[in-house]
Amino acid sequence: MIQQVVFAIILLGFSFFIARRISLIKKGIQLGKQTPLTGSTSARWKNVLFIAFGQKKMFKRLVPAVLHLLIYVGFLIINLEVLEFIIDGLAGTHRFFAPFLGSIYSVLMNVFEFLAVAVLLSCVFFLIRRNVLKIPRFWSAEMTSWPRMDANTILMVEIVLMLAILTMNATDQLLQIHDPHYTATGSLFFSSFFIPVFENLETGTLIFVERFAWWFHIVGILGFALYVTHSKHLHIFMAFPNTYYAKLEPKGHINNMPVVTNEVKSMLGIAEAGATPPAEPGRFGAKDVNDLSRINLMAAFACTECGRCTSECPANLTGKKLSPRKIMMDTRDRVEEVSKSIASGGAGLSDGKTLLGDYITKEEINACTSCNACVEACPVMINPLDIILELRRYVVMEESGSPASWNSMFQNIETNFAPWKFSPSDRFNWPKDQA
Ligand code: SF4
Ligand code: SF4
Repeated sequence: MIQQVVFAIILLGFSFFIARRISLIKKGIQLGKQTPLTGSTSARWKNVLFIAFGQKKMFKRLVPAVLHLLIYVGFLIINLEVLEFIIDGLAGTHRFFAPFLGSIYSVLMNVFEFLAVAVLLSCVFFLIRRNVLKIPRFWSAEMTSWPRMDANTILMVEIVLMLAILTMNATDQLLQIHDPHYTATGSLFFSSFFIPVFENLETGTLIFVERFAWWFHIVGILGFALYVTHSKHLHIFMAFPNTYYAKLEPKGHINNMPVVTNEVKSMLGIAEAGATPPAEPGRFGAKDVNDLSRINLMAAFACTECGRCTSECPANLTGKKLSPRKIMMDTRDRVEEVSKSIASGGAGLSDGKTLLGDYITKEEINACTSCNACVEACPVMINPLDIILELRRYVVMEESGSPASWNSMFQNIETNFAPWKFSPSDRFNWPKDQA
């Protein structure tokens, strides 16, 4: 009974902290502006199915894709076992589902063990890839000590959790021989390899090891679930809404500002008669996170910091300061800063800092060529370019702070309706010159 009470307290404690953290993240995302969703709902669900669930875009790089898929499927399916852990913990039972499922239980446990070993080996491979082979995109400037430690922590915790399952099952199999309270599971293939490690232990010690592994695994899972809400690993959940809300228009499409479009149309005399003018925006473009859309802010929490965007960014590859991954990390860090400040009664958005300037510099956003390579590369359909363009829009339209070379282009567009310094009346001179 004491164990059940302790378990219930632990479960409630972690649930409380996880719920509190989710609420903070939600409030952070709600700092952004609500934007209307366009396009077909079925296309959005298709993206969720193929890109988030099916990991379609990951398969551009086959080996990491297969290993990532194993970790992902393994973790999802193994966590079905957590349901049994929770029932056992609360009801004081042991392997609650075994009597109901009969021989299917044994098959399921063997599948779980196969996945546990696959997760374990994939995590070892990823650790080697990051820390021994030192793939450059995991060591670039924005990958400071915390993002690197975060990635390594996740991999190591997953290894330890999988080892706990295998230890628990190995000792459990031995206890089934000595102690009638241990429900028969049938032979479990992978944990059987661990049996020689424990077979000389006394029954009391075996029970201690089995119970320790059980508690370690379930408390580890709950702790991991809480940790995930503070980590880039949150992408395992956020990838789903992010692919649903991702832009459906062709990549080259840039959102116009209705108020500016309207102004241009009336200058050209093509405004619709009697149409209601669009509402004036509080600010052109974005200076801080509250000027961005909620979709932009949600995407920042969906970023897995994989760096595929940065590794394909022509600006970054030619030595410019821009990294689309850093744009997403900075956006998330600023949202976190503001939402934590608001939650603790602080200054929030009025803390004297802004996303543009304190996190992201003009040098970074001006280096962007708007090529969309980062958008194409992202496995979860994040669009760093959207944020860059909004920040740039602010610099150009609110601060008139664009580089001098751009200003002359803007002036030409305004006076000549083209980027070049020719009068519109000379626009069709070129065919005459060819004649
Ligand atoms: S759109 Fe900008 S940030 Fe993205 S890859 Fe191209 S240059 Fe880099
Ligand atoms: S934006 Fe996408 S590609 Fe870039 S680091 Fe984040 S998840 Fe990876």
